[in-house]
Amino acid sequence: MGVPTTGTEVAGRVDAILDALRGAPLHEAVAHDDVVLEAVHDDLLLAFLEGASAAWERGPYADLVGQDRVVPYFFPTAALLAGMTPSPPAALHARTGQFCYDTMTVIGPGTWEAARSAVDCALTAVDLVVGGERSAYALCRPPGHHVTGHAYGGSCYLNNAAVAAEALRVAGHERVAVVDVDAHHGNGTQAIFWERSDVLYGSLHVDPAAGWFPHVFGHASETGAGEGTGATRNEPLPEGTGDEPWVEAVGALAGWVGGQECSALVVSLGVDAAADDPESPLLVTADGYREAGRVLGGLGLPTVAVQEGGYHLPSLGGLVVAYLEGHASAAPGTG
Ligand SMILES: [Zn+2]
Repeated sequence: MGVPTTGTEVAGRVDAILDALRGAPLHEAVAHDDVVLEAVHDDLLLAFLEGASAAWERGPYADLVGQDRVVPYFFPTAALLAGMTPSPPAALHARTGQFCYDTMTVIGPGTWEAARSAVDCALTAVDLVVGGERSAYALCRPPGHHVTGHAYGGSCYLNNAAVAAEALRVAGHERVAVVDVDAHHGNGTQAIFWERSDVLYGSLHVDPAAGWFPHVFGHASETGAGEGTGATRNEPLPEGTGDEPWVEAVGALAGWVGGQECSALVVSLGVDAAADDPESPLLVTADGYREAGRVLGGLGLPTVAVQEGGYHLPSLGGLVVAYLEGHASAAPGTG
């Protein structure tokens, strides 16, 4: 028998943020082709995500697995493979474990459409910035920063922030920085740009060594490889970190980015570092998020902010607005 658990990455998150943004100039997301998406994610992952729900419904899996959602139960880990090359599994519930690395990121009817629309949302924000806006915020749901080039998990399916960074590169920005203020390390974004020097990845987050998702990545010793050596920076923070040291870590990342000749910025704007949030032990307030916005806005770079986590419905919208107000109020060079 399974035990039902309550999800926190729910549709009401978008309503809560939209409510708080009332009065701001809003743009509908515009449909984009797959060119940039395919530069960020492997074709096999994209095809799997697009077709998984319909295939699950066609097959015997709802009865066989006792689940009406696509969920893996078999994971071909490196230890299982022992250096051998596996054959592709025929059964969908076995194939899922090739792409999904946890058991909480389920796929149902509409998951693909939502994830793909979130990518359009991020790309529409990029268009606005490329068109001359100083900054644009993309209200993406589901979030994306845990998705690597080949694998999804952490309540994420497609990496909206990575797509935004890649799109800014394609639009002519030679070096783009991604700064990730979500409470959790963005292992997916780090993986995608790990060996690249044209997209920097900097993150502050609760220390994975204290037992937090994504558990195996996000340590300060992870700094990139190959051409990307030095282009990744992690600031793991202890449980209970509040405004002052948190904003200090944002400042450290801003200082790092400021010395790297970047011409555009993507902010992975997770607000789950907030004290009320059920998904992390960090204790940041709306004032902290406002200050983070001011610090990153002080870089004076064209900026696309992409919504990541943030799960406390009553405070979520206010935290996003606090960040965006801080960012908009910053004078270049004050970071
Ligand atoms: Zn998070």
